[in-house]
Amino acid sequence: MSAPLIEVRSVSRHYRLPRVSLLRAPAVLTAVESTSFTIRAGETLGIVGESGSGKSTLARMVMAFEKPDSGQVLFQGQDLHALSATELRKLRQKFQMVFQDPFGSLDPRRKIGWSIAEPLRAIGVDANTARRTAEALEQVGLHPRDAEKYPHEFSGGQRQRIAIARAIVTRPALLVADEAVSALDVSVQAQILNLLMDLQDQLGLGILFISHDLAVVAAICDHILVMQHGKPLESGPAAQVLHRPAHLYTQTLLKAAGVSP
Ligand code: ADP
Ligand code: MG
Repeated sequence: MSAPLIEVRSVSRHYRLPRVSLLRAPAVLTAVESTSFTIRAGETLGIVGESGSGKSTLARMVMAFEKPDSGQVLFQGQDLHALSATELRKLRQKFQMVFQDPFGSLDPRRKIGWSIAEPLRAIGVDANTARRTAEALEQVGLHPRDAEKYPHEFSGGQRQRIAIARAIVTRPALLVADEAVSALDVSVQAQILNLLMDLQDQLGLGILFISHDLAVVAAICDHILVMQHGKPLESGPAAQVLHRPAHLYTQTLLKAAGVSP
């Protein structure tokens, strides 16, 4: 087995809620509690759970946008949250994120070529940006000439392809996709899921795939982690979680998604 790409070791994250009274200490909300997982190259881990179960908070910690209060996130063996800003900036090209909203994440006044090259500029790559942008467009099934167009000229599914092009332009080893197909119609969802799987085959990507919809997770993931109220409820190979769920909650998610165990 290959060495882990990402190793999340018992991370927790709490948020202090606004004080309701001067006389009381502010309440603390546990968004994520003692959660661990590992992803290797070429593997897809699905994290599933209803809204508010801590999925996006986990994604932000994996992306080093936010620090865990305890626990560690190791990327290729390096503790992400112990790195200096400069070290982290360098390493960032190896893990990239695909966001849910392909509309909000593209600047409507910029040609999409500019938006796709943004992560390259962020890590200080200036050379060959046009060539690498063209290559990324082709990898997601668009045309290099599309770089000259504006976001409004594309459909929702095409915009999500653009968001994926922007995520792979730095040639990452890990993609974090947070509700990346949730805003799309079911038929378009399937195309984007196929694209992610093709890219994984070609590039050997590890993928952290987050969704509230177990049907979508079931379609592409090798391993599944079920979260409930910030806690890891059960995890294992996809077939096991889908066909022999250990918890009633997982069965409820399966029912809601129309997946029969
Ligand atoms: P999910 O992505 O599964 O819907 P989130 O990770 O977004 O869940 O949220 C988990 C919990 O943490 C929720 O109760 C949410 O309201 C809370 N939360 C998330 N981000 C913040 C924040 N910045 N400040 C306060 N509470 C937050
Ligand atoms: Mg979320």
